[in-house]
Amino acid sequence: MDVFELIAGEYETVNYAHDASSGLRCIIAVYSTALGPALGGTRFYPFSSEEAALRDVLRLSKAMAYKASAAGLDLGGGKAVVIGDPRSDKTPELLRAYGRAVERLGGAYVTTADVGTTSADMDVIAEATRFVTGTTSGSGDPSRVTAYGVWHGMKAVAEELWGDPSLSGRHVAVQGIGKVGSGVVRHLAEDGAQLTIADVDAPAVAALAAETGADVVSAEEILAVPCDILAPCALGAVVNDASLPSLKTRAIAGAANNQLERPEHGEALTAAGILYAPDYVINAGGLINVEDELHGYDEQRALGKAAAIADRLHAVFSRARSEGISTAAAADRIAGDRILAAARRT
Ligand code: NAD
Repeated sequence: MDVFELIAGEYETVNYAHDASSGLRCIIAVYSTALGPALGGTRFYPFSSEEAALRDVLRLSKAMAYKASAAGLDLGGGKAVVIGDPRSDKTPELLRAYGRAVERLGGAYVTTADVGTTSADMDVIAEATRFVTGTTSGSGDPSRVTAYGVWHGMKAVAEELWGDPSLSGRHVAVQGIGKVGSGVVRHLAEDGAQLTIADVDAPAVAALAAETGADVVSAEEILAVPCDILAPCALGAVVNDASLPSLKTRAIAGAANNQLERPEHGEALTAAGILYAPDYVINAGGLINVEDELHGYDEQRALGKAAAIADRLHAVFSRARSEGISTAAAADRIAGDRILAAARRT
């Protein structure tokens, strides 16, 4: 593994930290601080190798930079991985050692919770560093703000396709009605949208259907439901070679991360006449929520910033149209340009 080859020309720093007494082994990747501190979560995971951990942290830190940039936030992109099993290796001593590693970066990197870490863990990390958000006394569960942002993103989609942001009477199919999906469904029900929902959790789906009047289909059927907007709110890679031919929607707009299995599926959606709201633009509410903590958390302000996701998407659609490229490529250009312009100023 040649680390310099992996990070060449792109990443600002990759920091390895080790603490012998607690067994901490972590990598903190800072993609960019051009726009501001590199905010991103701490993933605690039993990676199969050091190389797997490095590749993951590099991929995720770049994704955070693009998400923050596309959301108009003054944040860079960073991510951390702690190599280990969170069920057996996560001790207060190790978390404090990790906090000291974050502190040594002097604020270039600011951490928060991710897979394998919780708000309670952030409380322990906060004993050793100032550069932490998402503690139990902080902004809390971001799902409400994420759902609000996705709903506003859908209005932008409706305006782009039908010249009217109203979702009344539009048929929306929602895959996954967990913390975010259920919030989106409730907003849409209030709008008078026609709803079809699916989830592998049968009692949850039945309860939400009874509450909102949504139709229910199986998890296997939802991607092929004829609808105006398909909202993936469960899993990644739902747009793939197998699903593409069966999609019967005019648009895809949902909360799930990494909806395209491969980048070229963005072009495939354009070719199929399906308007794609790029995942990291429409689901930025979670990041917006935690970023607001840096200014002293105010939920109304965070919701206001999440509503502006509609404007961000309008800019993406307009750039895709004017440059004749997919919306996925347009989002990458907008996010990348903003980082580059800030880097040139520094
Ligand atoms: P969640 O775990 O609360 O909900 C996911 C739901 O999907 C669950 O109800 C689960 O039963 C269901 N599900 C799993 N497999 C399914 C399948 N094959 N078919 C249909 N349903 C299935 O998660 P969440 O917080 O609501 O997040 C949903 C998605 O949005 C995830 O991809 C997440 O990474 C992304 N996201 C969430 C946030 C946030 O603020 N929570 C922010 C940005 C992105």
